[in-house]
Amino acid sequence: MSIDLHSLNHRQQEAVTASDKALLIIAGPGTGKTYTLAHRIAYLLKGTAEPHSSILALTFTAKAAQEMRERVSQILQEEGACEHDDRPWIGTFHALGLEILRNEGKRLGILSEFRILSESEQIELVKEVLSQTMPSESLARVKKWIRLLSDRKNGLPPDSSVASSPLFELSDRLFNCYQSRLKDLAMVDFDDLILMPLTLFKEHPDVKAAYQNRIHHILVDEFQDINNLQYEFLNELLGPQTSLWAIGDADQAIYAFRGANVHYFLRFQKDHPSAKTITLEYNYRSAPPILIGAQSVIAYNTNRLSTACIPTITDVSSPITLFTTPHEKAEARCVVHEIERLIGGFRMESPVEGPDDVGFNDIAILYRFHHLRSHFAENLKQAGIPYQLVDKNVAGSDSPFSNVTPYLEILVNPHNDPAFRTLFPRVDKTFSMAVMHRLSSAAQNKGMSLYTLLSTSHGKGLLETRQEETVTQLISLLKCLQIHLQTGNLKDVIADICQGAHIPSPFDSQEQAGWLVLAEPFFTGSAAEKLSPFLETLSLLKEGETYNPRAEAVTLMTVHAAKGLEFPIVFMVGLESGIFPATEFGDTASNDEEERRLFYVGMTRARKRLFLSYARERYLFGEKRERTPSPFVYEVSPEVVETCPVPSQSEKKKKPKSKQLSLFSR
Ligand code: ATP
Ligand code: MG
Repeated sequence: MSIDLHSLNHRQQEAVTASDKALLIIAGPGTGKTYTLAHRIAYLLKGTAEPHSSILALTFTAKAAQEMRERVSQILQEEGACEHDDRPWIGTFHALGLEILRNEGKRLGILSEFRILSESEQIELVKEVLSQTMPSESLARVKKWIRLLSDRKNGLPPDSSVASSPLFELSDRLFNCYQSRLKDLAMVDFDDLILMPLTLFKEHPDVKAAYQNRIHHILVDEFQDINNLQYEFLNELLGPQTSLWAIGDADQAIYAFRGANVHYFLRFQKDHPSAKTITLEYNYRSAPPILIGAQSVIAYNTNRLSTACIPTITDVSSPITLFTTPHEKAEARCVVHEIERLIGGFRMESPVEGPDDVGFNDIAILYRFHHLRSHFAENLKQAGIPYQLVDKNVAGSDSPFSNVTPYLEILVNPHNDPAFRTLFPRVDKTFSMAVMHRLSSAAQNKGMSLYTLLSTSHGKGLLETRQEETVTQLISLLKCLQIHLQTGNLKDVIADICQGAHIPSPFDSQEQAGWLVLAEPFFTGSAAEKLSPFLETLSLLKEGETYNPRAEAVTLMTVHAAKGLEFPIVFMVGLESGIFPATEFGDTASNDEEERRLFYVGMTRARKRLFLSYARERYLFGEKRERTPSPFVYEVSPEVVETCPVPSQSEKKKKPKSKQLSLFSR
C-alpha cells in the first residue's frame, strides 16, 4: 500500500520514497521541506507492517510538532486511512528527553515526579545561588550567568564577556551549588532534558539499546538548528537498523551562533558517508520579487551551502515596498494604514483595491524585538483591527499568564523556593533583593523551604509587620487554593487565583489569547490531575508557540517566532542599524551572518506581498535617537523594491498628499 504522491514534484517524490539508510535534504525556504517530511511519515506509515511507534519525527518547537501531526493525519485522511492507536512519535528533542527521563530517570536517581525549572524560576534560583557571594548582581548579569551554566551543559566554550570577568573563576562553585539546589528541589532545567538522557544512555547501555531497537526511522525537520548536545543525542538514538532522514536549510540557521549551522550538515555527511543528498529547487511560497530580494540579501553571507530557489508562483509580481518614515509613531501609523487599505478599504473614505480577499489572519507584522511592537498594537487597536500578540514565553514576563504561573507551581510543590522568590516581589514590592536574601539565608540555615519557614513560627521577626501580613494572606490564599485544586477544574482554579490575588485574569486578554488554545485540553477533569501536565506543556514551549493560525487577527511576532510559517502579506518593521543586526542590544550575541539569516527568514515568510519599514528617529533606551536603515535593507536588490517615503505630519500639512514611487537607491 502506498500514498498518492501526485501533488509532489519529482525530487520530493524521490525523497519520500528513498530507501537509503541516511538521507539529507538541503533546500531553501518554501521548497516544501516540511511538506515532504509529512508525506514521508505518511508514506512510511502506510507502507509498513512495523509498529507506527517505530517512527520518530523530531522538531524544534512543540508548535511545529503539532502542525506535523495535523499534516500527517490530513494526508492519511485524504487517503482514507483511519486513525490508529499505535502512532508515530512526533515531538521536540526536549519532549523526547523528558519522556525518557520520566520512564527511566530513576536509573540516574531522579525522582519520577521531578519538575522543569521555568525561565523565571531559573533566574531566581541563580540569584539565590549568587547571593552568597554576589548579592547585588543585576538582572542582565544574572542572565549572563545563566548563559554560562547553559553553555557549560551544552559543551560550549563560555561567552567571551563572561569568560573575561574576574568572577569567572567562581563559576565552578556556582555550577556545583546550582546543581545541588536543583537536586534538593527535585527539579531539572531545560538543558538537562537532553543532557540527562545522554548520561543515562552512556551509563546504562541496556536503556539505550531498548530505545534503539524500538526506533526504526528518525526524521528531523529544521536540521540547521541542531546543537552540539542534540546532535549527540540523535547519534545515540541511532541503532544499527535505524534510518535517518534530516532536512534543513543552512541559510535559515538562526539559533546556532558560533558557526554551528553549516557545520552540522558537513558533519552529517562525514558521519554518514553513504548518505544520499537531495536538493529541492522549486519554491511554492513566494512571488518572484520576494524571492529575488531575499536571495540578494543572503548572497552577502560567505559561510553558506547555497541552494537554488525557482519560483512557481508567477501570477503575483508586486515589488517589495519600502516605507521610510520620520519616526516610530509614523511608521506604525503607516503600516496600519496600509493594512486597512489591503483589507479592502476598511474604515477608509476611498477604498483602494487590495489583493484578492485579504483576511486579518493573512497578515503578519514581524520585528526583531518584542518591545518594538507597542505602537503597532496601539494603532491596530485604534483602527479596530483585531490582532494577536505572540508572546516570547507563555509563562514569561510579557505574557498575561506570567502572574499566575508561580501560584500554580507552588500548588504543585509548596517547597518550590524559586517560585516563591518569583512571587513575593510581585505580591509586595517591598520584598527587595535584600529581603529575599535574608529570607533565603534563614531558610537555608534552618534546612527548610521558604514555605515551611514562613508558614510556621520559624519565620517570626524576619519581616516588617506589613510584610508579615502579606505573607499570612498569601499562605491562607494558597491553602484555600489547595482545597479548590481537589474539587474544581483548572480553569476555575486559575480564575480563583486571579480573584484571590487581585491580578488581571489571562482569560480577559483578547490579543494574547493564543495560550488558551494550548491550555483548553487541560481544563476538563480534575485540576489536581491536570495541573502538572499543564505546567509541563507550558515549560516545553518556546517563543512563538502561542500563535493561533485560526484566529481572525493580524499577527504580531518576532522574526524568530515566525520561522517555518508563511503569510500572504508580511510587514518587517523597525529595520534600522543597531536593531537589525541587533548590535545595540547588549545581551544578544549578535553576529552579522546570523542576523542576515534571520532577516532572510523574515523576508521568506511572505507569499504575495512584502513590506519593509524603518524610522529615521526612534525612542530607544529612554532617549530619542537618530536612526539609519539596516544595512540589510541596502542589500535587497533595487530592481524589486519600490520606495515610499512617508512624510511627517507637519510635512503633510505643507504638501498635498503624494505617494512617490521610485527605484530604491542608497
Ligand atoms: P521553510 O524553509 O520556511 O520551513 P519549507 O521548505 O518547509 O519552508 P513548506 O512549508 O513545506 O516549505 O512548503 C511551503 C508551501 O509550499 C506550503 O504552502 C506547501 O503546502 C507548498 N508546497 C510544497 N510542495 C508543494 C508542491 N509540490 N506543490 C504545491 N505546493 C507545495
Ligand atoms: Mg519548513
